[in-house]
Amino acid sequence: MMRTHYCGELNEKHIDQTITLAGWVHRRRDHGGVIFLDMRDRDGLVQVVIDPDTPEAFAMADKSRSEFVLKITGRVRNRYQGTENPNMPTGMIEVLGKDIEILAESETPPFPLNDDFSNVGEEVRLKYRFLDMRRPEMLERMRFRSKVTSKIRTYLDTNGFLDVETPVLTRATPEGARDYLVPSRTQPGSFFALPQSPQLFKQLLMVSGFDRYYQIAKCFRDEDLRADRQPEFTQIDIETSFLSDEDIMQITEGMIRELFDELLGVKFTPLQRMTYADAMRDFASDKPDMRIPMKLVDVADLMQNVEFKVFAGPAKDPKGRIAALCVPGGASMPRSQIDEYTKFVGIYGAKGLAYIKVNDLAAGIEGLQSPIVKFIEPIVMELLQRVGAKNGDLVFFGADKAKIVNDALGALRVRVGHDLKLSTCEWAPLWVVDFPMFEETDDGHWTSVHHPFTMPKCDVATLTSNPGAALSVAYDFVLNGTEIGGGSLRIYNLEMQKAVFEALGISEEEANEKFAFLLDALKYGAPPHGGLAFGLDRLIMLMTGAASIRDVIAFPKTKSAECLMTHAPAPVDAKQLRELGIRIREKEKAAE
Ligand code: ASP
Repeated sequence: MMRTHYCGELNEKHIDQTITLAGWVHRRRDHGGVIFLDMRDRDGLVQVVIDPDTPEAFAMADKSRSEFVLKITGRVRNRYQGTENPNMPTGMIEVLGKDIEILAESETPPFPLNDDFSNVGEEVRLKYRFLDMRRPEMLERMRFRSKVTSKIRTYLDTNGFLDVETPVLTRATPEGARDYLVPSRTQPGSFFALPQSPQLFKQLLMVSGFDRYYQIAKCFRDEDLRADRQPEFTQIDIETSFLSDEDIMQITEGMIRELFDELLGVKFTPLQRMTYADAMRDFASDKPDMRIPMKLVDVADLMQNVEFKVFAGPAKDPKGRIAALCVPGGASMPRSQIDEYTKFVGIYGAKGLAYIKVNDLAAGIEGLQSPIVKFIEPIVMELLQRVGAKNGDLVFFGADKAKIVNDALGALRVRVGHDLKLSTCEWAPLWVVDFPMFEETDDGHWTSVHHPFTMPKCDVATLTSNPGAALSVAYDFVLNGTEIGGGSLRIYNLEMQKAVFEALGISEEEANEKFAFLLDALKYGAPPHGGLAFGLDRLIMLMTGAASIRDVIAFPKTKSAECLMTHAPAPVDAKQLRELGIRIREKEKAAE
């Protein structure tokens, strides 16, 4: 071993000890006659002083530059009075360097690792990720991530879970995204799919009798990337047999609570369960941010007969919704801010954003300030009473197809809540339960809200007669408005699985072609089972307060699904393609 100590672990206990460090030059300062090197390694920084009394060491220090790799032997001593640095964990001591060996030199790094970092673009950070990861902030996040996975393993181990690996070269698992495909050389024209999740394998492990499985598993989804998505990401994947949905929620909630308690000192009280229907009604979201207490209130029934078409139309439309959002203290909001919110809801397809400022309720209509009051005069006071508006409040309205109102007001609720600092707590976890089985696609088909293996809450006949009304035994773990986990009890009965495939428009032939192994497994004694998966990257992002999941992944990809460091994906040579029986259609490539 080259070193005796890590830089960051040194303190007054080591005074007068001769120690050896191995690390990087974080900063070098030449104070005419004395050289200071701030040395950095995984555990932190320490100041090393080299004076000309040791000419060989001095010459090495003189030659050293930022990011050189040095081995330094020296003696730990107190800093001179007045030169201590209380902001640095090792700030009370320094090392008097006696012997320095340059292990590796470094070119000037493309961005400073020891200076203000705020102007360094993410592209250059990702291109030189190996340097970016030297920064203490990144190191800390990765160290935190390692602690999380270690604690997860211990928790699941203690609760009787077995860690089983499942294949990465496999067949498509329908989780609703596009597959990444891998061409087969041995069977030209055939492709593996990378797993969108280990869903079917973990179900098969239950059929095999494993009882409790987990895996910290890579999943792959070829989606258009948003800020909190990556084409490959990590799930804490869990499956159990013979447990109820409530049991599964208890066990997995216990794991998250333990993580927050032990790593952040945050204690969650037992989590609230909210039905999907309530979440949509009150918060217009299936992942409500419960730090913000504002609720939506439905008012369509009051608008049936108003002259104002913007309201009367959706009020009469069975697929419409009219909801009000009362913002406490919002009446003082300037016009420019309201305009800004109007633009914001436009992103979600809302055609406008009606509002009423409540200045003085006692003055009736006169006490209200709003471009729409005149159109809804007969019902306006009842309306304000319904939404619980007080003097000084502002009420926003959304009126359109329910989907647009939910998307727009759901997002507006959170945005306004943050802008006006209405959060009542730092952490707001909950379970959302009783999701619908299916949702309607734009072209009038049914698609699974979770995935096709989710157990419905009803029998086969009810499901078949009215798929749109069927609920599922599915649950999502939501934290601060982000879904960090989701799962369900699974279908373990062949007839029900077939009925669900049928409702989804998957023919018997197609089902047999794609899922014969699952349908077979259901014939040979499949136990009642269920599980869930947590998104590890998102969980770590929330726990560390990182701005993006890229900041908690060692080597992430960009929003266009590229690795700027390795330049993956990359073209391959013609020979490789020939072996795979693949020809690139140049014309289409050129047209792109
Ligand atoms: N496989 C599901 C997913 O990836 C999770 C689950 O149902 O366990 O979302």
